[in-house]
Amino acid sequence: MANVLLGKNVTDEMKEKMQADIKALNAKGVEPKLAIVRLGEREDDLAYERGALKRCETIGVLSEVFKFPADMAQADLVNEIKKLNNDNKIHGILIFRPLPEQINEEEIKNIINPDKDVDSMSPVNAAKVFEGDESGIYPCTPEAVIELMDHYGIEIKGKRITLIGRSMVVGKPLAIMLIKRHGTVTVCHTRTVELEKTCREAEILIAAAGKAKMVTKDFVSPGQTVIDVGINMDENWKLCGDVNFDEVEPIVDSITPVPRGLGSVTTSVLVRNVIKSAKKLA
Ligand code: NAD
Repeated sequence: MANVLLGKNVTDEMKEKMQADIKALNAKGVEPKLAIVRLGEREDDLAYERGALKRCETIGVLSEVFKFPADMAQADLVNEIKKLNNDNKIHGILIFRPLPEQINEEEIKNIINPDKDVDSMSPVNAAKVFEGDESGIYPCTPEAVIELMDHYGIEIKGKRITLIGRSMVVGKPLAIMLIKRHGTVTVCHTRTVELEKTCREAEILIAAAGKAKMVTKDFVSPGQTVIDVGINMDENWKLCGDVNFDEVEPIVDSITPVPRGLGSVTTSVLVRNVIKSAKKLA
């Protein structure tokens, strides 16, 4: 039986540190606050929003949702973001993506104040990830993977780590962050040949493909750690990861489940980013 790496143990530890930071900020008259910007009513945005609001409340960070119609004009959105940039009671801004078609995301990325960009969409923060400059805000999901590994004492240095996925949200920044920690990283994607073999040869396998249960027993080998970033719906509309847990768990050494795995760590990192921004802006 594999060791099941639950998110809750990680978030409990993070919560204690965050609450101490909030206390110190409150003593200076600062109340960290997250602004969530949502256009329309997409179900996955609403699910993430519920999770983020709940996490903010549990930890003691204020939050407010700024809801706009899905057909909002570019100029109006730019205007709203500028208002949030200039509002000194707001320390973090999370804008749900993908944005509707009529919105030019490139412009939005460049308008958000990098110091309030808690989801790391600004090119300024992306550059800081690539430079290893820790004054930047790193994207929540890759940071959550590292946090989980550190919590469970999973060594990164010198390990063969295979990642499935090369998006700007997960795969690419995570690869850079793992290299910085001295991992030997292989990044796989839709054009990778011999994907299963490459995955089997890793010591640590991280799946961020967004394909329900694609990592089967043929992708893994004994002794591996498997981290499942995927959030998908299975054939019965039940939440599942990229890993076929029932097939993989009996083979590997340790594995994160979905749900109860990385998701809650990601929202905790989001809240921590708000606190980090509040400290920087205070
Ligand atoms: P994306 O669609 O932007 O990128 C997926 C990547 O996986 C691409 O680089 C693609 O080349 C690769 N890929 C897809 N199918 C593949 C296949 N069959 N073989 C090899 N490579 C393949 O997705 P994303 O935004 O990076 O998100 C990935 C997953 O992570 C999704 O399930 C998403 O819901 C989830 N996610 C989870 C969290 C969390 O908190 N746990 C946060 C963000 C995203």
